[in-house]
Amino acid sequence: MKMDDTTLASIKKELASIKERSPFYARKFANINPEDIKSQEDFQKLPFTNKDDLRDAYPLGLAAVPARDIVRIHSSSGTTGTPVIIPYTAKDVQDWAIQFARCYKMSGITADDRIQITPGYGLWTAGIGFQLGAELLGAMAIPMGPGNTEKQLQMMVDLEATVIGATSSYALLLAEKIAEQGLGNKIKLRKGVIGSERWGEKMRNRIANELGVQLHDIYGLTEIYGPGIGINCEYQSAMHIWSDYCYIEIIDPNTNQVLPDGQSGELVITTLQKEGAPLIRYRTHDLTRIVTGTCPCGSPHPRIETLIGRSDDMIKVKGINIFPAHIEEALAVTEGASSEYQVMIDHMNGRDIMTVFFETASPEEHRPYIELALHKAIKDKLALSVMPKAVNVGDLPRSEKKTKRIFDNRY
Ligand code: ZN
Repeated sequence: MKMDDTTLASIKKELASIKERSPFYARKFANINPEDIKSQEDFQKLPFTNKDDLRDAYPLGLAAVPARDIVRIHSSSGTTGTPVIIPYTAKDVQDWAIQFARCYKMSGITADDRIQITPGYGLWTAGIGFQLGAELLGAMAIPMGPGNTEKQLQMMVDLEATVIGATSSYALLLAEKIAEQGLGNKIKLRKGVIGSERWGEKMRNRIANELGVQLHDIYGLTEIYGPGIGINCEYQSAMHIWSDYCYIEIIDPNTNQVLPDGQSGELVITTLQKEGAPLIRYRTHDLTRIVTGTCPCGSPHPRIETLIGRSDDMIKVKGINIFPAHIEEALAVTEGASSEYQVMIDHMNGRDIMTVFFETASPEEHRPYIELALHKAIKDKLALSVMPKAVNVGDLPRSEKKTKRIFDNRY
């Protein structure tokens, strides 16, 4: 995305003092003179900041202010053990509230609303972000936290909550309980603010219909404030990111090159105002693309599309970047195919072969037709020929945690 003059000025200002403020960046940029960064091209030569760098700074090595100016910490858990600690100054907390309140406003939520907050409170940033924004907006916060579904429903009915803040899976659970208990006509919900993750259209429609709400995807990550750095407007398609707080880039996760607007890749964020733990070119590992053109809502804040996955899940076959979402979408339009699948990529006779195993309940004689249909669906989507193989329902492995579905046997 073309960096405008205001953003370039903010970045220069941010960089001018970063080595003095942040021992972390003093080390990372040891061989860089921030004054040499005069253009977008210069900026794009700066090294990325990775989650591992943040882990290595445990516990408070990221702090760019004296300890007495830190008013709060949050933490993102890692799969490898060492957590990442993000220190916040009073201004950071305030800025987060401002951004979250903007998200509510963009979703059409006002001071008259009653916001039931079901994400967790504590070290991670979810619940408290919803709360900060609600209070700044002047809405009524109902700080439930997760779980205790019966109590959730009772409060929702008795306090006449109009907005639900939730993860997509908890929103679905609540929707099912509401349908089960026939509470549909007792609840007053009109909006759902859902933490952004990759979730299918089918799930989205079910939640929206059963709760009777309009859904908004809110984006954010603990390393960069938390949820609230962007949300989709009434035109639904993509999330606006608050450009006065964050500068966004999309890179090819393999080559690390910045991609033109419209192309899918990994989202990289630079904070423009953060005091406690400023981050320069932070790799989020979230895959999305910048939506080009102006949004019909008129907001000047740039938009990213609903996340299509994590860059760790991406795989390249015959020069084409493939994400699990692509396979899932192809399966969704293939009649007779279920959503369970497994992909094997092998290198044979000098070329890459991608086999897509999928489950089906259809009888043996129909399977060649389903395989053909899936072949076409993937070809239409990715311009890639694969070998589809139908298997019986239950044949593919399942796990309670995240199921590994793509196996690259080429290397
Ligand atoms: Zn918009």
